[in-house]
Amino acid sequence: MSKPTLGNPQNTIEILQKYHFNFQKKFGQNFLIDTHVLEKIISAAGITKDDMVLEIGPGIGTMTQYLAEAAGKVAAVEIDKNLIPILEDTLSEYDNVMVINDDVLKVDIRGLVEKENGGRPVKVVANLPYYITTPIIMGLFEGNVPVESITVMVQKEVADRMQTGPGNKDYGALSLAVQYYANVPPNCFMPRPKVGSAVIRLTRHAAPPVKVDNEKWMFDIIRASFNQRRKTLANGLSNSDKIDLPKDVITEAIAKLGKGESVRGESLSLEEFAALSNDLWEKKGR
Ligand code: SAM
Repeated sequence: MSKPTLGNPQNTIEILQKYHFNFQKKFGQNFLIDTHVLEKIISAAGITKDDMVLEIGPGIGTMTQYLAEAAGKVAAVEIDKNLIPILEDTLSEYDNVMVINDDVLKVDIRGLVEKENGGRPVKVVANLPYYITTPIIMGLFEGNVPVESITVMVQKEVADRMQTGPGNKDYGALSLAVQYYANVPPNCFMPRPKVGSAVIRLTRHAAPPVKVDNEKWMFDIIRASFNQRRKTLANGLSNSDKIDLPKDVITEAIAKLGKGESVRGESLSLEEFAALSNDLWEKKGR
C-alpha cells in the first residue's frame, strides 16, 4: 500500500480545487493538515491490524488514509455527499475502507459492528464535527455499541466538560456519561491544547464504577436535572415528562441523599445520581 498522500496543506488544497469543494459551515468542516497531529492521534488510538476502526466524519479522507494503513478494517461515516467522490479518489488505493454516506446519528452503528466485526468492539477515531460532539459520544455510550476506545479531537471546552465534577459550570450529562462509561487516562491531551482543540482518549470501563438498576433511567434523570439548570433538582425532575413521578416522591428521594430542598442537579456526584436513580426506579415500579 502507498503511504498517506494527504495531511499536508499543498495536497489538501489540490484535492479541494480539483473537485471545486466548498466548505459547509453547518457540518463543522475543518480538515487536518498537520502530519504531526495526525500521527499522534493514530498512535494514541493504539490501532493494530486486528482492529476495526469507526471513523466519524472522514472529510477528504486525510486521517482515513492513516487509519487504513494501521487497521484491519475502517468504516467511515460522512454526511456530506459532496465529499463522497473525493473519498473515492483519495482512498482508491485501500481495499479495507468502506465509506457510508449518512448522518452518523442515524446509522445503526451497533448493527454495523455486528455485521462487519462479528460484534467485537471497535475503536472509534475522529476529528469530530464540533456542533454534535456530545450527542455523538453519548450515542455511542448509550446505544450499547461495542466500543473499546474513543480517541477524538474535540474543542478544549468539550474536553474540560468531560473531566469536570460537581459544582463546576461545565459539569453536565457528558461529564457523568464519561465517568460512568469510561476511563480518561492521564496525559491524554495531544497536542497540549493551544489552538483550542484537544485529543482525548476514552477507554471503556470493564464495569461501571457504580451500580445502577437501569442506565437509561439514570441518564433520563441526569438530563432532566441539567435541562433546567436554574431550577432546583426537585422542580427539574417533577417538570420532566420522562420522569413522571409526583413531586413529594421526588423530594423524599432527594432528602434521603441528605440534600436540602434547594439543591440543584449540578451539585450531585455520579454516586448520588446512581442512588437517586435506583430509589426512584423502585418507586416507579410500584
Ligand atoms: N476527519 C477530517 C479531518 O480531520 O480532516 C474532517 C474533520 S471535520 C472537523 C468533521 C467532518 O464530519 C466533516 O467532514 C463533516 O462533513 C462531517 N460531519 C459533520 N456532521 C456529520 C454527521 N452528522 N455525520 C457524519 N459526518 C458528519
